[in-house]
Amino acid sequence: MDQFADAPDVLRDVPGRKTVVRAGSAEIGGGAFVTMAGPCSVETERQLMETAEHVARAGAQVLRGGAFKPRTSPYSFQGLGREGLRLLAMARAATGLSVVTEVLAAADAEMVAEVADILQIGSRSMENYSLLEAAAHTGRPILLKRGMAATVADLLRSAQCIVSHGNPNVIVCERGIRTFETSTRNTLDVGAIAVLREVTRLPVIADPSHAAGRRELVPALARSAVAAGAEGLLVEVHPRPEEAWSDGEQALTFEQFDTLMAEAPRWHELRAEAAVA
Ligand code: PEP
Ligand code: MN
Repeated sequence: MDQFADAPDVLRDVPGRKTVVRAGSAEIGGGAFVTMAGPCSVETERQLMETAEHVARAGAQVLRGGAFKPRTSPYSFQGLGREGLRLLAMARAATGLSVVTEVLAAADAEMVAEVADILQIGSRSMENYSLLEAAAHTGRPILLKRGMAATVADLLRSAQCIVSHGNPNVIVCERGIRTFETSTRNTLDVGAIAVLREVTRLPVIADPSHAAGRRELVPALARSAVAAGAEGLLVEVHPRPEEAWSDGEQALTFEQFDTLMAEAPRWHELRAEAAVA
């Protein structure tokens, strides 16, 4: 399709062609569904270890947790930084989970890559091309989140940028976009998930947490994302959401996460019935 002409190396040039991303013990895009779960921010050793152990037992493959946080307000908690990376490494060693964590600055890419199995590029950074280049050069797989005002073509151009810098291991993530609607934090663009599954060879996952903004809505958005073809989910979970240092309103409790994990296999079947490759 013409609108994606600037992203030739991420398109499905051959029908059925898929990029399978291997990150630590996890495989994304290879047919098996992948769940990435954990707190918005790494806060304390206890908080992270409790969460990592819980989500691993529930069947997640990847632990998420931000050490460097892109906060809209300069007065908000900005993340633990290096200490957060140390805690993530500890949680990975204890559970065998792979780790995904955000890199905010090009100068930090190598340092974050020492711990991360997957480098997350956040929504606000999707068009930070020097960051994309630095992240690509680490050789780690990249989880590229869609900018909140970016089109699918913009997202694929940023993915192409990473691939052009020699790193083919990119996962794209729909996390909701800005629209006139304010009853959810962002508008989950389910259509974009279906389009991405059609046009790109890259694995496509969805983040229902940042789209929903409220934990009660997360299961419905997760279900619709999977039905539209998402090959994995990125979900915020916290042992005590009311005490979270960031994004507590949208964090699932352990109990809610267990329910989601128990129901998810039925959602995958919906996807299979819709014959999404
Ligand atoms: C996050 O994953 O915690 C995050 C900040 O996400 P986004 O970049 O989608 O806002
Ligand atoms: Mn968050």
